[in-house]
Amino acid sequence: MTQTIPAVDYLVVGDDPHLVSKECTDCGALYFDRRNACAKCFGTNFGTRRLSNEGIVRAYTVVQRGSKSGPYTSVVVELQGGGIVKANLIGVTDPARIEPEMKVRLVTFEAGVDDDGTQAVAFGYEPIGA
Ligand SMILES: [Zn+2]
Repeated sequence: MTQTIPAVDYLVVGDDPHLVSKECTDCGALYFDRRNACAKCFGTNFGTRRLSNEGIVRAYTVVQRGSKSGPYTSVVVELQGGGIVKANLIGVTDPARIEPEMKVRLVTFEAGVDDDGTQAVAFGYEPIGA
């Protein structure tokens, strides 16, 4: 049986993949990495918040690489309801097709399989309606 693990610890995989974030219980600031204190209010209490799977592109960079992997597009996505995440835009490498504030949604894909057959799942974003 294949075991599936997320490539990053803030990605929840399964039938309903989504991102989770640490949230400062005092001021609501969101963090993906582990924090001992909030950078905004210095609070030390954190909860967990499920983030939206949909958002809009705030910034993007088309990264040119060797011909094998081809160019890919790195985007900064502002999620509905809060949270900003950097990821790859899936299936779009032509800058002419990327519009400011275009709507995107979370997609997951297999990032690799190790010798034990454990499958790593990564995430990216794809345009909604494309
Ligand atoms: Zn705070």
